[in-house]
Amino acid sequence: MALIVQKFGGTSVGSIERIKHVATLVAKEKEKGNDVIVVVSAMSGVTSQMVDYANQVSPLLNEEALAEYDCVISSGEQITSGLLALQLQSLGFKSRSFLGWQVGIKTDKTHSKSKISDIDKKVFNKHLEEGFIPVVAGFQGVTDCNRISTMGRGGSDTSAVAIAAALKAERCDIYTDVKGVFSADPRIVPKARKYDKIGYNEAIEMTSLGAKVLQTRSVEMAIKHGVTVQVLSSFENEPGTLLVKDEEIMEKKLVTAVAHSKYEARVTLKNVNNTPGVVARIFKPLGAAGINLDIIIQNISYNGSQANVTFTVNEADLDRAVTVLNDEKEKGTFAAEEIIGTKDVAKVSIIGIGMQDSSGVAQKMFETMAENNINILAITTSEIKVSILI
Ligand code: ASP
Ligand code: MG
Repeated sequence: MALIVQKFGGTSVGSIERIKHVATLVAKEKEKGNDVIVVVSAMSGVTSQMVDYANQVSPLLNEEALAEYDCVISSGEQITSGLLALQLQSLGFKSRSFLGWQVGIKTDKTHSKSKISDIDKKVFNKHLEEGFIPVVAGFQGVTDCNRISTMGRGGSDTSAVAIAAALKAERCDIYTDVKGVFSADPRIVPKARKYDKIGYNEAIEMTSLGAKVLQTRSVEMAIKHGVTVQVLSSFENEPGTLLVKDEEIMEKKLVTAVAHSKYEARVTLKNVNNTPGVVARIFKPLGAAGINLDIIIQNISYNGSQANVTFTVNEADLDRAVTVLNDEKEKGTFAAEEIIGTKDVAKVSIIGIGMQDSSGVAQKMFETMAENNINILAITTSEIKVSILI
C-alpha cells in the first residue's frame, strides 16, 4: 500500500459540483488500496477576492499588517477542505479536514510568503492508521508566534509537495485545469504542446518566469526531497506530465517553453549619486523588507558620477518597494533625483535545456519582437533561458 498525496487547484474545487467530482477521484485512489492525503486550494477567484478586500482596507506596509492579510487570504481553503471532507463522508469514507496549524505545518514569520520549516507527521500518521482521508487546507501554516501564515500565491502546491516529502509519499499528484505542462499556456496559445516529461530545472525556470502551472517553491522542494510530482487534469482521465531529472530528458530542445508574467512592476531610481556602496545601500532595505528583486539594471552617465538604477519586483510589492526607498532617501541613505514605479510592464521568457550548447536562440526572439513592433525594455539571460521585459 502506497501513500499518494493529491492536490486540487482552484478550478478543480471551483463549485460544489466540481468538489463532488474531485471526491470521486480521491475515492478511486483510495479504492486502489492506497492511503491518500488530499490538499486543496480555495475555490478559484476566492483568494484574489480576499486579497482585494485586504488591499481596500490597508496598504499592508508592515509585518503586523501582513499577518492580518494572511488571516484573511487563507480563509478560502478552510471552506474547500471542509466541503470536500463532508462530501467524502457522504460517500461513506472516514475523512476530516485540517487547517495548517492542526497538522503542525510550521513556517517562518515572513507573512504572505512564508517558508515551511516543519511538518508534524504524528497527526497524519495517526489519522491514516485509523483509516481517515485527511483533507488539508493548502497555502497556510502557523508561525512560532501562533499566527496564521501563507506561502505566496499558488502556495498549496508547496503545501502538497512538503507533505509528500515529510511523509515519504510515493507520488504527489497536482490536479489542475490543464492536462499537464505545456510549451506555453494552452489557454492563450491553442497550439501549445503537452509534455509527458519535463526536467526539474526547466520546470523551475518556467514556473519562476510566470508559468502558473506550479509554484516554483514546490518544484525546488520536490528536487530537494526527491518527490515524484505529476501534473494532471482533474477533468480528463489521462496521465499528465511527470517532473524528472534533467538527465532523463532524451530530446534536449532549444526552446521547451515560452512563459510570461503580467504581474511585474518596474522601479527606477533616477540620477543616483554613483559612489562605492550605493547599490548595496539601495537594495539592503528592500531585502530587509522581504521584497524579492528580479531583473536589475544599472546604467551610468558618461562621466560616471550619476547612474539610473532600474529593477523589477512582483506587482504586489511595488508600493511597498517605493515607500521603503523613499523613506531611505529621506534618511539620506542614498541620493537620487526621483523614484518612479510602474506596473505597466510584463515579462516574456523562452526556456530550454538545449539552449546551453547553441547560439542564435536569443536573436530569433529579438527579431520576433522587432517584427511585431514590440519594444524591449530589459533583457536577462541564464544558461537555459532568455527573459525580456516589455
Ligand atoms: N488559494 C491560493 C491562491 O490562489 C493558493 C493556491 O491556490 O495554491 O494563490
Ligand atoms: Mg496553482
